[in-house]
Amino acid sequence: MTRVTVFNENYHEVIRPEVRKIYNKGIHGTIAEFLQCDDTEVKTVTLYDDNGKMHPDCGITNALLQDTDVIIWWGHCHHEKVSDEVVDMIHNNILCGMGAIFLHSAHHSKLFKKLMGTTCNLNWRDGEKERLWNINPSHPIMQGIGDYIDIPEEEMYGERFQIPKPDDILMLGTYSSHEVFRSACVWQRVYGKIFYFQPGHETYPIYHMEEIQRIIKNAVNWAKPLYRERELICPDFPKIEL
Ligand code: ZN
Repeated sequence: MTRVTVFNENYHEVIRPEVRKIYNKGIHGTIAEFLQCDDTEVKTVTLYDDNGKMHPDCGITNALLQDTDVIIWWGHCHHEKVSDEVVDMIHNNILCGMGAIFLHSAHHSKLFKKLMGTTCNLNWRDGEKERLWNINPSHPIMQGIGDYIDIPEEEMYGERFQIPKPDDILMLGTYSSHEVFRSACVWQRVYGKIFYFQPGHETYPIYHMEEIQRIIKNAVNWAKPLYRERELICPDFPKIEL
């Protein structure tokens, strides 16, 4: 059984009817729905509840994280409202082995920037056609994906993406405006596997696309821990005598 926790800011869904129309259960609800199956159990947590009330701890506890194999993060314009204590707690669980998937504008979340140690800035502009090229077909996350995926309308995220060099790049995004972007990248931090995946602006129905869902499902399988520590320590290690 793989245990997934999906975090969503849930802000646009509450204040913008056009977003609620595309994601009537919220982006977190849509992601949970396509991931949920016999061997995957999904929980969701949000920064805003459906009445627009903000919860800085997002309902995230250390007990929840200890029971989570992979956390998925979607946030956009209220990254700063997530409490530092929660960010530190998740960061620590990732270093211990919990997997993490960052979607679209989560590139600017406190958590992603803390893991990367850089600004994670990029160039952006709303409303472009995107073609995502599969440049790493042998990677586990790319299984079942063809040469490319066309997204009719997406927010343009372009280089230069101010991230540390990824351990691997899986997809390159190209746009009708000729910009390019490293749209699917992986890293490891101590024992935790991390995947950043660019598609998913809130005003386009991108998480309803089968191929995008397939990539996120594959990423959950890839990121779930094969090894996990309860805490990271720096022991005075006794000498082993022969
Ligand atoms: Zn966006």
